[in-house]
Amino acid sequence: MPISTSISSPTTRHEALASGHVVPESARCVQCGICTFNCPIGIDVRRYARLGEHITNPRCLTCGECVQRCPRCVLRFDRLNIFKERGK
Ligand code: SF4
Ligand code: SF4
Repeated sequence: MPISTSISSPTTRHEALASGHVVPESARCVQCGICTFNCPIGIDVRRYARLGEHITNPRCLTCGECVQRCPRCVLRFDRLNIFKERGK
């Protein structure tokens, strides 16, 4: 089943959840806090959006709630390149 969020290449929801993470486009964020309010495990997504940082918090469920709820389409899923991240 194709995923409805903005994954750049065609993929299944399962693949996205297995390898994706949430990425903000901070310039579009109005700091409304809806993302943080709707995160089921309490990650401060708004803070990540303000700082323009990828949500690499290991507690993130990649459930997509924050992506779906953001009224400004600030958040999207992207692939997590584990080797690149570790190589920093
Ligand atoms: S819901 Fe969207 S616009 Fe609102 S704080 Fe979160 S990322 Fe920013
Ligand atoms: S994907 Fe889900 S768990 Fe991860 S930050 Fe967004 S709402 Fe929270």
